[in-house]
Amino acid sequence: IDEKQLLDDDDVQKVFQRFIADRDEATTEKLQAELRRVMDEMMRQAQSTAKQAEQYGDELAEHTDALKSSGFDEATLSRVIDELINGAQGMRHSVTELQSTVAGHSEEVESLKEALQQAIGEALTDPLTGLNNRRAFDRIISEVIDGGTTLAHSHSLLMLDVDHFKKVNDTYGHVFGDKVLRSIAHVLQGKVKGADSVARFGGEEFAVLLPKTAAKGAQVVAEQIREAVEKGRIRGTSKAEDAGKITISIGIALYRVGDTAESFIERADKALYKSKSDGRNRVTLAEMAESQAA
Ligand code: GH3
Ligand code: MG
Ligand code: MG
Repeated sequence: IDEKQLLDDDDVQKVFQRFIADRDEATTEKLQAELRRVMDEMMRQAQSTAKQAEQYGDELAEHTDALKSSGFDEATLSRVIDELINGAQGMRHSVTELQSTVAGHSEEVESLKEALQQAIGEALTDPLTGLNNRRAFDRIISEVIDGGTTLAHSHSLLMLDVDHFKKVNDTYGHVFGDKVLRSIAHVLQGKVKGADSVARFGGEEFAVLLPKTAAKGAQVVAEQIREAVEKGRIRGTSKAEDAGKITISIGIALYRVGDTAESFIERADKALYKSKSDGRNRVTLAEMAESQAA
């Protein structure tokens, strides 16, 4: 900004990585390290108590032998009793110490666990919409693909992009633009179910993964989403902000055996591109687009 230059996608990605993604990761790592330290300390204490218990057991065995061979004379009896009391006191001390270490740390472990859970959640969530972020989506899509399938075309992927969103921002402002994105996220969440996943892929792009869903089902879902966005009036704070029509373009790809997350996404992206060039506010199925091009 100081250099009066425009930020391109690469710049934004770098800034995001440095100030958001890396920090999320650093926080998570720090919490994990703290949790590990506390667990190690408890483990050490437990090991030392176990060792003491073992020694105490040996001592008891020795005393038993001494008593048996002494014929229970008074002097031996009194010495053995003293030693037994000493040993028992040492043992009690050690167990008390273990108890207080565990008690002292259990609260710490609980709060560290909570903080860790929250940090992991935040690292995978888009703060504006509450949807999965790109990182979470990359994981989900890889899991679905790695889960494998014997049937080709059994998963569908929708890539969605808001039409002329730059103009929406320019006309109504970024705050309203953000509101539009949240409202689209809401529509998406309402239109999927079960194993389906919705993510904010970046900027004004969203992705919907429909596992075990073939072309027909995916087209129905995509069309429902497209229509719901087109029909939905997104209310602004003033009349001027009642944007007439917000529309989205959608591309659908069908999973092919051997697809990577990348190749799968790329095909959906291409279909999305086709929806844009064909006039926006429409759904394109990658396979149809490809056969038309051939
Ligand atoms: P097209 O129909 O071809 O997709 O046109 P477009 O204007 O939507 O596409 P373009 O990529 O030119 O502009 C995307 C805009 O989305 C530009 C950017 O400022 C806006 N945008 C991205 N992320 C956000 C966000 O978090 N909030 C708001 N308000 N705007 C965003
Ligand atoms: Mg875009
Ligand atoms: Mg757009």
